[in-house]
Amino acid sequence: MAEVIDGNRIAREVRAEIRAQAIELKAKRGITPGLAVILVGEDPASKIYVGRKEKAAAEAGFLSREFLLPAETTEDRLREIVAGLNSSPEIHGILVQLPLPKHINPDVVIETIDPRKDVDGFHPVNIGGLFTGRPGHRACTPLGVIELLDRSGIAIEGREAVIVGRSNIVGKPLALMLLNRHATVTICHTRTRDLAAVARRADILVAAAGKAEMVRGDMVKEGAVIVDVGIHRIPDASKKSGFRLVGDVKFDEVAPKCSWIAPVPGGVGPMTITSLLLNTLKASRHAFSPPSPLTWRARGWSCVATRGPMRACKTIRLPSLPGQRISTPSSCRWCWRSRWWTRWMRPCGWPTM
Ligand code: NDP
Repeated sequence: MAEVIDGNRIAREVRAEIRAQAIELKAKRGITPGLAVILVGEDPASKIYVGRKEKAAAEAGFLSREFLLPAETTEDRLREIVAGLNSSPEIHGILVQLPLPKHINPDVVIETIDPRKDVDGFHPVNIGGLFTGRPGHRACTPLGVIELLDRSGIAIEGREAVIVGRSNIVGKPLALMLLNRHATVTICHTRTRDLAAVARRADILVAAAGKAEMVRGDMVKEGAVIVDVGIHRIPDASKKSGFRLVGDVKFDEVAPKCSWIAPVPGGVGPMTITSLLLNTLKASRHAFSPPSPLTWRARGWSCVATRGPMRACKTIRLPSLPGQRISTPSSCRWCWRSRWWTRWMRPCGWPTM
């Protein structure tokens, strides 16, 4: 019988670490990670998700702002709100809850979000970063899957991974993340011929097709690792609620054959919001970091520190005075971390969000 990957336990562990890091960030640099969640309309499921995200952010010690907008909000108004949040220094992560009402183009709205604050990882810049293996925010559910595998000690490198589903929010980004981690990746979809045969090749099989219990026992190789992403409510008179949750995997048939399984509920689900918190924490750090020493050098920025009462430094853009050096790394509140940064960044002017 497979070992169950306990997503609830792992999510609790990661959230405790996030909270500790948020407290440290506040103590050392006076920054509280801030998350803004925007919901347009009255969709009940979306309302529940937004409520959960806000609660998780508050529990992690983040600043959490919720924007509940009427369904008739125009695309221009929504973009205005996003643009305002882009320039708000207290907000580091912006999430626009999808789906949006039909009259709003989600692509246009997502492209309005500053990529550094795009904690859902849907902005083309972040998708491009994923494609090319460069830093950036990653989509939350796939990021949660990788975290589950890592924290369960499951090796990814060199293994054959098969993903059933090619959506932009789960299948495709997860395929790239696994590829970046040196797995051999196959993506399946509705036109895949002989899905069962392809799935049986998998050392790691991820089911993200949105079809209840479609992955059956005969589609799984002995000893494979199974990650079930799908979530479905099916009627069940024996339950008080009248329904039960199942995934895309027929658990009873598959569990006896595999080595590990992330079940539904209690597998990937709790990790998605946890990834959102991780991305927001990361954004709050990066928002206050200089781009890169090389960029600053290329722009001719230099920095000169004074020992003023606030331990802030006076920064002057002085290409004409090259080689000015800060005397002590701690003399500027933005410069505490690295001598290298202190030499080339523009301490008091950063950030200019
Ligand atoms: P989409 O409907 O956007 O995509 C489903 C994908 O699965 C499509 O690429 C589709 O192929 C493929 N597919 C559907 N049926 C079959 C089949 N019979 N054989 C092979 N491939 C098939 O779904 P999402 O990616 O948004 O979500 C997938 C599931 O994950 C859903 O159940 C959703 O509720 C759940 N989910 C869970 C999250 C969590 O936090 N745990 C977060 C996000 C989603 P094609 O492209 O050819 O149509």
